[in-house]
Amino acid sequence: MALRVYNTLTQQKEPFQTMQPGKVGIYVCGPTVYKPSHVGHMVGPVIFDTVKRYLQYQGYQVTWVVNITDVDDKLIVRARELNTTVKDLAEKMTADYVDCLKKLNVTGIDLMPRATEHIAGMIEMMQGLIDKGYAYPAGGDVYFDVTKDPDYGKLCNRDPEQLEAGARIEVSDRKRNPGDFALWKGAKPGEPKWDSPWGPGRPGWHIECSAMSMKLLGKTLDIHGGGLDLQFPHHENELAQSESYTDQPFATYWMHNGLMRIRKQAGKVGGRPAAGAEGETEKMGGSLNNAINVAEVLAQHEAETVRFLLLATHYRSPIEWGDERLQEVRRSLDGFYRFFERYQRITGQNFYDLAAPTKHAAFKEDGNNKEFLAQVSKHRGAFLELMEDDFNTGGATGTLYELLTTLNRFADTQQLEGGKTNEQAVCDLRRGAEVLRELSQILGLFHQPLAARTGGNDQLVSGLMQLLIDLRAEARKTKNFALGDQIRKRLGELNVTLEDRPGGTGWRIG
Ligand SMILES: [Zn+2]
Repeated sequence: MALRVYNTLTQQKEPFQTMQPGKVGIYVCGPTVYKPSHVGHMVGPVIFDTVKRYLQYQGYQVTWVVNITDVDDKLIVRARELNTTVKDLAEKMTADYVDCLKKLNVTGIDLMPRATEHIAGMIEMMQGLIDKGYAYPAGGDVYFDVTKDPDYGKLCNRDPEQLEAGARIEVSDRKRNPGDFALWKGAKPGEPKWDSPWGPGRPGWHIECSAMSMKLLGKTLDIHGGGLDLQFPHHENELAQSESYTDQPFATYWMHNGLMRIRKQAGKVGGRPAAGAEGETEKMGGSLNNAINVAEVLAQHEAETVRFLLLATHYRSPIEWGDERLQEVRRSLDGFYRFFERYQRITGQNFYDLAAPTKHAAFKEDGNNKEFLAQVSKHRGAFLELMEDDFNTGGATGTLYELLTTLNRFADTQQLEGGKTNEQAVCDLRRGAEVLRELSQILGLFHQPLAARTGGNDQLVSGLMQLLIDLRAEARKTKNFALGDQIRKRLGELNVTLEDRPGGTGWRIG
């Protein structure tokens, strides 16, 4: 099977072909940095980080650009409210964004251009559009004339009148047509400004992305990504001005990710009170005032739980968000964490130290337990086939659970924890675990042990736990069962579970 990608432009899945053999350029619209990042901002980065990981796994050399909009109306207003400068606010909020990405294991972004560093390129492009008759200066502003572009509306598959009817359009008496959009905004007093042939001012939002993406990735991007809410007007406008300027396709594939929806419930959502009927959802957004800061979420939930939740839904579908859903995901992840511990007990090796392939190659089914390895190979094949089908991470996470069940069942039937040595079976289990690691790396999951589980104080905690386990064993030996039970119960109250196994007692959090 070969990779197929759903293209918003053609509204169908198409075989994946790149402009240059073996190379992929991805551009994803980044945030306007005026507030701390909310979880909705993380959807696109986590998805495209996974897209990049998969393309690399398939041997592509990928360059991924995410821009930072560091000058904008919202930033100007917010900086005034906080009595700070646009520059300082943007720097602080960019640092917050970068920190959130790191926590969610989004490691693939190669370049993060700031709009304010690319003003010259934007001016050059605007001048080109004026020279070609697509744009016009008016009273210190510059506008793109949508009536000059016969293709305008092709990304949304609608004609311009329909688009205008459905969108909030900035009103200005300087415009020739209501749908025209600003490429350059003449400066108002007290606003950040740059010199231009049309007087001092600043760029409009749409031109930023066109100028920066073409500068860094060339005239035609392989993949242009972003949230579904950006399709109009932002992406439609990016496309119109870019193709009018270069007379070449701006992007081969337009990929749009679904937006986050909050589950309404009578209690609280992400620590905040929420109203509404149980089971209903509503859109999340900074401007809707229901957005949940990433920092707030990560104070209560592990980053891996959040990443997994974002990938467990197909990227084109809306993502349902809520504490209940997070807890459900966390419980399901526990199965993996317990297997990693089990794997260590059986092999003496840390799952996180397994060196699994980072590039695709055929899986050899030859081994001692052929039936088991054939099953592992089947799950792996299913995972990869789902990824080839428009990066179906939702389906792919499902096959990880199936693989997990197969691994556990094998450890059970081979009695690998019974104290008997069965090196051949252990060797096969290791090969199965390597596949789990190989596939989870593609999703950016299970890359390191959860530090939060022991508060990062691993040595002390494990020492204290061993002390309690020894005391409980001592109590049971002297038939002081009441004390033994009390130790187990009190630990249970602290969310620590003791597990009596053939080789001794172990423990886990949760
Ligand atoms: Zn953009």
